[in-house]
Amino acid sequence: MAIGIKNFLEYFQLDNSLIKRNFCSNLKDNTDFAVYDITNLEAVEENKKHFASLASILSIENGYFGARSCFEECYANISTGATYIAGIYMVNDDLFSDKLAVMPDWSRTCIFIEEESLDLVSQKALEHKKYFDIKQGISVREARFMDSQGRITRLRTEKFASLKDKHLGGQSLSITPENYSGEITVRTGIDGNIVNVGDAIFKKKNHEDCIILTVDLPETKFGSGEINFSRQVSMTKKNFISSESSRPKKFLGQNENYIFEEYDFKVESGKEIKINSLVSIHTSMDSGDSLTDSYEELKKAHYEKSLQEHTKTMRSKLDEMGVSISGDKIAQKYANYSIARLIMAGENNGERSSIAARTLTGPSYAGHVFWDNEIFDLPFFVFNSPELARKMLIYRYHTLDGARKNRETENKEKNTSYKGARFAWESTYSGIERTPPFATCPNGEKIQIFTGTHEKHITPNVAYATYNYWQVTGDDEFLRKFGAEIIFEAARYSESILVEGEDGKLHTKNLIGPDEYHEEHAINPENGEREGVNDNAYTNVLIRHNLDIAAKTAEYLENRFGQDFNNLKEKINLAEDEIKSWITSKEKIYAQQDEKTGIILQFEGFDKLKDADFDYFRKKYGEVEAQKFDHALKLEKRVNKEIDCDKNNYKILKQPDVLMLMAMFPEKYPLNVQKANYEEYEPKTSHGSSLSTGIHSLVAGRIGHKDDAYRYYLEAGGMDIENVMGNAASGIHAASLGATWQALVKGFGGMQLRENAVFFSPNLPYKWDQFQFSVKIRGQRLKIQVNRKLSGQETLLINVVGDKDTKIPVQIGDDGVKELMPGMTYFAVKTFEGWKWDSKLEIKESLVEKFARNISTLLKTAFSD
Ligand code: BGC
Ligand code: BGC
Repeated sequence: MAIGIKNFLEYFQLDNSLIKRNFCSNLKDNTDFAVYDITNLEAVEENKKHFASLASILSIENGYFGARSCFEECYANISTGATYIAGIYMVNDDLFSDKLAVMPDWSRTCIFIEEESLDLVSQKALEHKKYFDIKQGISVREARFMDSQGRITRLRTEKFASLKDKHLGGQSLSITPENYSGEITVRTGIDGNIVNVGDAIFKKKNHEDCIILTVDLPETKFGSGEINFSRQVSMTKKNFISSESSRPKKFLGQNENYIFEEYDFKVESGKEIKINSLVSIHTSMDSGDSLTDSYEELKKAHYEKSLQEHTKTMRSKLDEMGVSISGDKIAQKYANYSIARLIMAGENNGERSSIAARTLTGPSYAGHVFWDNEIFDLPFFVFNSPELARKMLIYRYHTLDGARKNRETENKEKNTSYKGARFAWESTYSGIERTPPFATCPNGEKIQIFTGTHEKHITPNVAYATYNYWQVTGDDEFLRKFGAEIIFEAARYSESILVEGEDGKLHTKNLIGPDEYHEEHAINPENGEREGVNDNAYTNVLIRHNLDIAAKTAEYLENRFGQDFNNLKEKINLAEDEIKSWITSKEKIYAQQDEKTGIILQFEGFDKLKDADFDYFRKKYGEVEAQKFDHALKLEKRVNKEIDCDKNNYKILKQPDVLMLMAMFPEKYPLNVQKANYEEYEPKTSHGSSLSTGIHSLVAGRIGHKDDAYRYYLEAGGMDIENVMGNAASGIHAASLGATWQALVKGFGGMQLRENAVFFSPNLPYKWDQFQFSVKIRGQRLKIQVNRKLSGQETLLINVVGDKDTKIPVQIGDDGVKELMPGMTYFAVKTFEGWKWDSKLEIKESLVEKFARNISTLLKTAFSD
């Protein structure tokens, strides 16, 4: 059978080494798999969203490209594929903002049993499962379909985005006729019909051994005249066929911009046919000739080898960066999934792109980079893959010019004289602000978006992350070349937006803090309109921190790298007076904190807002509906006409605001202050953002609110796997993955970075018998194991692994700082007064290893036959 065939060619490419894989047995309780049984879900409209959610949750990515895990048959309107490539954006109709472009789906496949199409629309699924093999980083689908003639066909597909070679993706299809012999046709190719860039130009090539689709995205312009550069994306797909029956006939064909190979198999009952495919993706962003590069790459490639290299890389990264939890399978699974996804999203990032709010897995937030990147995700990389964290920060460095332009534009529009660089709230390639100015609601109503103009904490956030990276790694070269400039330019901007009040203090006006429910509260003195909030404590503290680290960085560079410092000062025209002014300004910044209770006021006037019983909304409308408080208010309006529908007027938060300070600056706020603020704000938080629960878990864990810490951990860790917010369909939530890791290591592990040491004070959930995690500091890996004995007694063991001589200063609870040596194991125990070192037990790692080796030799000998 050959449908829509233009070219004809008979050619066989057989790969006898192809390995047979079995159908999964029950993996549901296995913590290494995220499994979804969709046997009873028909291809109907009501299930579309669920399929789309799975396409995100089970998507594959490697930071260079991401591909949604759709059904390969790509049923119109039921499950559509998409490939996203880091840095490939298109201009939106508003000519101001942009979005990640949808690139061809290279997994697109159609299967026909005789003339009947094998898919969920035409056939009945007897079994249908989709799962993510977390440890291997592969997305798998297994199904058994019965057609109108009673023929049963077994289908298994797997997909991966290589962590070894960023240009490579893989797809495997195995098809087994269970109870019939006959003809099966498989058409598999690259589908460019889904590309959403109107003026894209497609070039199709059918080679003897592969197919190539090239998409040219012509240069376009933003309204401001700024250029969105032309790009070329080339995809080459090569199929490797194996069949337990006879060899197939091969045809080449195309259907508009869908280019494919078609194989006609004569199949025998019970015998498997298999098509393994590799795709190589290159773009003009990193290649002078993307077409040739993508073609050449596949010449010598083999599917199984590429797959093995990918899974090996994934496993070794997870072994190094993962955590292990005993006594709690669900917590372990969420940790595995979150860390694996962080690894996949972060790899290959940086310099010119960084992790988008929904990574490369879906359209939400248009592939834009938010503060999610620096504050939520970066800590994982700083403490695990510092080289990647460095690149992610260099991405921000490359956007400095864009950030300077943002400040200039703002000065022109508002007649201000701000200085330095203002990082974009939503950043893409150039760093020019890309937050859409308006959003269109489902009812067609257009609403203004204020975040792009008012959510300015992003600028000191980038400086915070930059300094944090340097503190953990000691990477002076980075600080000299990139970091200092980021910190100085951010400090300049941060300082220049401060306004001196009659009280002699420096204030911030008309901004939006992390809690975006309060965006129209303060009165703008210029036009009398309500806009932003005044003195958002989070922003004020972050600005203060920015000025502090800028002054410290200047001093450090001056003392250690005088020449570099002078060069930088000259480059950015930085005067000594500015540095002095940072030091005086920081002391004058206002932030309202109650002297007795330690409670910080979120912003001026927050205490005067209306109280609302959030539990009432939660009980009445359910968790998912109520967490979007603005939406819950509208629902309530239907039955209660009197209710004030403006979320700005209530003491209800979308996400942590003051609590972000507790999470980010544990050394600044004593535990009792953290506790007081947690107890003040936690009950008022609706968790309308996925950024919320992980931070709540972290702070609750640290202050010993074990039940809350655990409950919030499950919500953050399950954010995507369980689709907690109901919106996974439009992409997975990067910030929540990072916050889950932070909840684990900084909440349950109690880790903090202090001026002179790394600090640990673990707080295990009641269920956990053992918790192991590790962090990389100054090039050495610290492996931490916390145990809970049957008696309830908690003990801790730290192992320093590294080939350098560097000692790592570590503090345990309130006990002193110890310089930990590589190759040694240290012990601590939790007493009534907190954690204490147990120096009696210190041992050389080599002794432990020797002991372990002897035991394992003994066991092997004992059980050898
Ligand atoms: C988010 C903002 C974002 C805006 C436009 C809102 O839903 O909360 O942070 O800037 O969408 O993308
Ligand atoms: C949150 C922001 C976040 C953005 C992207 C919004 O809903 O309020 O804090 O940066 O989503 O994840």
